[in-house]
Amino acid sequence: MGKKAKSIIEIDSTKLISKLNTLFADEWLAYYQYWIGAQVCKGPMRPSVIAELMEHATEELSHAQMLADRIIQLGGTPIINFDDISKLANCKYLAPTDFYVKEILKQNIDGEQCAIEQYNNFMKEVHGKDFATYDMLLKILEDELEHEEDLENLLEDLNLIK
Ligand code: FE
Ligand code: FE
Ligand code: MG
Repeated sequence: MGKKAKSIIEIDSTKLISKLNTLFADEWLAYYQYWIGAQVCKGPMRPSVIAELMEHATEELSHAQMLADRIIQLGGTPIINFDDISKLANCKYLAPTDFYVKEILKQNIDGEQCAIEQYNNFMKEVHGKDFATYDMLLKILEDELEHEEDLENLLEDLNLIK
């Protein structure tokens, strides 16, 4: 834990750590949703879809790592029990039921849109009060914006198949 790191933040650290843990939970669910989608998806452009899903899965896990690092720096503990991941997450895990590539992509787009909203809202809360957390959230948000766009582009290409 960083003593000074904790003392410079101008928001309640317990609340901050809890919120960061809910985002940490979201990232694990996002990771798994991408990973499982990449295993089961079927349909046109399958290799391109799998490559994008796996790339995003890796990036979601790196977001979980960034959040865990910040939680620990602030004296907190990342979620220890896996059951708490789905309980505490802000965004729902959308289990793939239809494995067709377009349906998998649509579920992941929904997931990204939820993540974008979460990060954007939380950034407003920490703005000017905790610069390090703000900076981390911005980096993650930028990735989520790119994720949404990548998936939308893939879906657009799939819709152009004649
Ligand atoms: Fe993420
Ligand atoms: Fe994402
Ligand atoms: Mg991408």
